[in-house]
Amino acid sequence: MARALIALGGNVGDVRATFKKAIASICGMAQGALLARSSDYMTPPWGEPQQAKFVNACIEIETGLDPHALLFTLQKIETKFGRDRGHEPRWGPRTLDLDLIAYDDVSMQKAELTLPHPRLFERAFVLVPLAEIAPERVIAGRKVASALAGLSTEGIERLPDLG
Ligand code: ATP
Ligand code: CA
Ligand code: CA
Repeated sequence: MARALIALGGNVGDVRATFKKAIASICGMAQGALLARSSDYMTPPWGEPQQAKFVNACIEIETGLDPHALLFTLQKIETKFGRDRGHEPRWGPRTLDLDLIAYDDVSMQKAELTLPHPRLFERAFVLVPLAEIAPERVIAGRKVASALAGLSTEGIERLPDLG
């Protein structure tokens, strides 16, 4: 079994409800179990500012799938929850984005799968929820909590737990 960190994001529809169902799907399809789930956070849009705020969260799972099979599974789940990759601008509005942040200590640089996620350390919207569940984790030689300390978290708001 391997441990994987996954970042969730979305800004179309009832994103928090989508997350709940998507996490259940991930656990069902990834031959594993949920080890940790962060709170949900409201975050300013990244890359393309003229769009609705995002909701972001991170989870850690245990999985029997290899990295490519896990990514393929995540993409199937995005589609199931309304993601339409063929008809959307880069970094534009979407119902659900599932990024593989890290998979054990695997390092790979392929276009279809780069591990750890190449833009992780530029993104407070990933590092804030990640620091909630794995502050001491070292990814690519950097501790999550210290990487976050170097970024602005302006506009990021923790949402109260859903009952
Ligand atoms: P970003 O990657 O900057 O967060 P994005 O999530 O909007 O942007 P997508 O359109 O969801 O980008 O994905 C583009 C491609 O990135 C996918 O086809 C996928 O194969 C590739 N990719 C490479 N590394 C990863 C990774 N670690 N997690 C998810 N997708 C990845
Ligand atoms: Ca993304
Ligand atoms: Ca993605």
